[in-house]
Amino acid sequence: MTHLITDTFTKPITVIGVRHLTDSAYVLRFDRNDRPFSAGQHVILGIKNENNAREYSVYSGENDDYFEVLIKEVIEGDVSKRLKKLKPGSQLQMDGPLGFFTLETDHILSKRVILIATGTGIAPFRSYVRSFPDLNYHILHGVRHGNEAYDRENYDQQRYTLCTSGDQSGNYHGRLTDYLRETEIDTTAQYFLCGNVKMIHEAFDILNIKGVSQENMHAEVYF
Ligand SMILES: Cc1cc2nc3c(=O)[nH]c(=O)nc-3n(C[C@H](O)[C@H](O)[C@H](O)COP(=O)(O)OP(=O)(O)OC[C@H]3O[C@@H](n4cnc5c(N)ncnc54)[C@H](O)[C@@H]3O)c2cc1C
Repeated sequence: MTHLITDTFTKPITVIGVRHLTDSAYVLRFDRNDRPFSAGQHVILGIKNENNAREYSVYSGENDDYFEVLIKEVIEGDVSKRLKKLKPGSQLQMDGPLGFFTLETDHILSKRVILIATGTGIAPFRSYVRSFPDLNYHILHGVRHGNEAYDRENYDQQRYTLCTSGDQSGNYHGRLTDYLRETEIDTTAQYFLCGNVKMIHEAFDILNIKGVSQENMHAEVYF
C-alpha cells in the first residue's frame, strides 16, 4: 500500500546502520527519539522528502532505545529497494508506531503463544521475544532456504521450528502449512500469524479444523 507521511513529530529520524542478513534481507536501525511503542506494532517508513512510504513491523524490543525493522527487498518493488541503499546519517520520515498486533497482559504472563511466520513475518515475534524474556512461546518459521532463518540464534532453539520448503536445512522439510497439518496442535494456546495472506488463510483453516477457536487466533497480513 502507498502512504504519504503526515508526521507530527519534529525531531529528525536518522539511520544508525544497515545490517545485511542475506542478499535481499536487511535490518535497518534508526533513531527512536523516545517514541512510545508496544511490541507487535508497525511503523510507516519512507525516505525524507520522498512521497512514498510502506508499513514495517518493528523488529527491535520495547526496551531498546533505537528502532529496527527487518526488510526483504522486493525486486519489482520500490521502497524496500531504496531503503536498502541508505547509509548511516540518512534521514527518514515515519508515522507510528501503530497497530494492535500486540500481546495482552494475560498472554505475556500465563498463556502459551504459538508464533507462526513466513519470511520477514517473524519481525513482530522477535520484538515480542526481545521485550518479554519470560514469554512462553514457540515459533514456527516458514522459509524457502535455511539462510532466511533471520537471526535464528536470537531464539531459544527448543522454542523454534524452521520449515524449509526449498532445501533440507530446516527442522522440517516442507511448507509450514504441511507441518501444521501433520503435527499435533495445542488447542489451548493463543496463535499469532504473520506474513503473506495465502499462508495465513491456509493456516487459519487448518488450526480451526483442528479445534483452535477463532478468538484464539490473531493475524497480521503483509501482502
Ligand atoms: C502491517 C504491515 C507490516 C509489514 N511489515 C513488513 C516487514 O516487517 N518487513 C517487510 O519486508 N515487509 C513488510 N510489509 C510489506 C511492506 O509494507 C511492503 O509491501 C514491501 O516492503 C514491498 O514494498 P515495495 O515498495 O518495495 O514494493 P511495492 O511496489 O509496494 O510492491 C511490489 C509487489 O511486491 C509484493 N510484496 C510485498 N511484500 C513482499 C514480500 N515480502 N515478498 C514478496 N512480495 C512482496 C506486493 O504485494 C506487490 O505486488 C508489511 C506490510 C504491512 C501491511
